[in-house]
Amino acid sequence: MIVTHENPILREHAKSVTNYGSDELKQIVDRMFKVMREKDGVGLAAPQIGESLRIFVYGFEYSPRYPDAPAVPVMAAINPEILWRSDETTNYEEGCLSVPFKRGLITRSSSVKFSYHDIEGNKYEKTVHGFEARIVQHEVDHLNGFLISDRAKELRDSRIA
Ligand code: ZN
Repeated sequence: MIVTHENPILREHAKSVTNYGSDELKQIVDRMFKVMREKDGVGLAAPQIGESLRIFVYGFEYSPRYPDAPAVPVMAAINPEILWRSDETTNYEEGCLSVPFKRGLITRSSSVKFSYHDIEGNKYEKTVHGFEARIVQHEVDHLNGFLISDRAKELRDSRIA
């Protein structure tokens, strides 16, 4: 089940995860991957399944929602933090599973560096570019209560959910 934009949970500043290594955390992450795959999403943030927690997952081989997007490696990021955003930006038309049947042109940094933890609590840093960088910025927005309607000048109707 996907939470949609009229639900106030999507406007909250999601809470930090503290229970690294727990079954509860593993179950939430598993559920996020399952929902993302069922909905053909390229990424998903925990508030979108009704959990106000700082977790996102992303990655796909091929996405019918973004048929021109290159494959992105699958991963889960817990308590992510963007450490650096490039000044160089790109424009691209984004959708969101929580804002169904809408797309909007959004300007985002072309590259970002971020830190995150895995389920066990190990910390990593990763620099990503292009579509992957866009996903990271979109998902971090979800953790801070922002939606594509806040980032795009306007949203147009789309046949794709
Ligand atoms: Zn979204």
